[in-house]
Amino acid sequence: MGPAACQLPYLPATKKCLDCRRHTSADIQSQPGIVIGEAATSLRICSLGSGSSGNATFVAAERTRLLIDAGFSFTEITKRLESIGEHPERLDAVLVSHEHSDHVKGLPQIAKRLQCPIYITELTEQTLDWGKIEPRLETFQAGQTIDIGEIAIDSFTIPHDAVDPVAFRVRYGGLQAGVVTDLGYMTESVKHKIRGCDLLVLESNHDLDMLKVGPYPWFVKQRVMSRVGHLSNHAVSQFLATEFDLSCRWLVLAHLSESNNHPEVARLFADTALRNKGADGTSLVIAEQHRASEVFEL
Ligand SMILES: [Zn+2]
Ligand SMILES: [Zn+2]
Repeated sequence: MGPAACQLPYLPATKKCLDCRRHTSADIQSQPGIVIGEAATSLRICSLGSGSSGNATFVAAERTRLLIDAGFSFTEITKRLESIGEHPERLDAVLVSHEHSDHVKGLPQIAKRLQCPIYITELTEQTLDWGKIEPRLETFQAGQTIDIGEIAIDSFTIPHDAVDPVAFRVRYGGLQAGVVTDLGYMTESVKHKIRGCDLLVLESNHDLDMLKVGPYPWFVKQRVMSRVGHLSNHAVSQFLATEFDLSCRWLVLAHLSESNNHPEVARLFADTALRNKGADGTSLVIAEQHRASEVFEL
């Protein structure tokens, strides 16, 4: 497709065509007779932190702000949101992937202190202890699409040792982003759901060799490596080498184990696979446990 075919809105952050994602607004403007539409609205994503000690992802469209998982204390979530110029009071909803503490630690305090609804599956909700708090819950079923403000959120089942674990794909104005962590392997349905994502937050939990010689007891190692455990660097690189969608502009490796992985090892695996695949347009980023990532603007 040449620049002349690109008549759709361009992306304001990168000036790339919303249609083909390759041609810039300058290319299009230089073509006589081409009319550029309204500048597209943007979707902003930020990993507030990711790893075995806590996970939370901020997602925002023009007027809608979401938090996917609340695996840090309320104070910490507040601090990290403020570090990117946001505030918990401005959240429109919180979505929960599963009940493990590194995803729900801050949830009771959020339920107590914020008015926004918490979207959670019924089975996951039943595992949580709310104490005297009466949370404002909106239950959904895995596989359901949830509309919150301007954003559509597709939930889908992932293989993990929790009662009803899900991952999410968010959609807004033709843009898509996937937030996929805590899964033992890449199922066909997960691969299908993340196809076409402009940004993908994907677990790259452990290095198999580091895990095998690392400090975890054997039964925990078996759990991590199992089909309902976590994705290894190797599993990620296999996926990238075969079925990764080259239109993805940002790949954010997440949920790295602090004991059984190293950011540079995870990066090397993914980078090698991306380069072999010729994914020159994909930027690789490692989400950190102890601080928020940059704010990705699609
Ligand atoms: Zn986790
Ligand atoms: Zn988990």
